[in-house]
Amino acid sequence: MKAKGILFVVSAPSGAGKTTLSRKITEIVDNIHHSISHTTRAPRPDEIDGRHYHFVSKAKFEEMIKNDEFIEWALVHGNYYGTSVRNLDIVQKEKKDLLLVIDVQGAEQLRKKYKNGCYIFILPPSMEILEKRLRKRGVDSEEDIKRRLKTAEEETHHYKTYNYIIINDNIDEAVGQLKSIIFAERCRYPNFIPELPDLKL
Ligand code: 5GP
Repeated sequence: MKAKGILFVVSAPSGAGKTTLSRKITEIVDNIHHSISHTTRAPRPDEIDGRHYHFVSKAKFEEMIKNDEFIEWALVHGNYYGTSVRNLDIVQKEKKDLLLVIDVQGAEQLRKKYKNGCYIFILPPSMEILEKRLRKRGVDSEEDIKRRLKTAEEETHHYKTYNYIIINDNIDEAVGQLKSIIFAERCRYPNFIPELPDLKL
């Protein structure tokens, strides 16, 4: 029997492919939901409010912090990002798994509160490839790319505090690895408690 949903926390530097990876995984694995964060960052041209993020003003975000509406939040690349308490309902009430794609500061806050969560770090094959990917996607300014690369270098050192590491060289392989991690975690005690009526467990 599933006691409650599992919290899967994924961190990765910008450009490591976490958005593609998390989108693909929720398409192929049942009962896992992508957590939609709040941010004060401006939406990119292809982003939809309420689907990719809840885009809010700085004043609104700060009011939410004051009202304890976040289970974690952080200032990333000069903008606020946070996971609202409400997002956890799916884990606690509906017993479904939740996939959080958040930065290393947010993951650190969650690790203290949710020790049973599963923490996964995605690494690019090299910094050179990361830079190429950031430039290729063409959504960030030169200044932004430089800032993201600097943050990436700092963030990669945190991989040791995660339970699993995926090197995203080939997206299909990385999706396969993430899927295996999810399935393994679903069999792990106490995420799973067997109920066999003819056995006293
Ligand atoms: P981006 O601007 O590229 O969408 O995201 C920038 C960074 O913020 C990424 O590392 C992303 O994982 C992180 N991020 C997105 N949502 C959250 C959140 O709710 N909390 C935290 N701590 N980081 C987040």
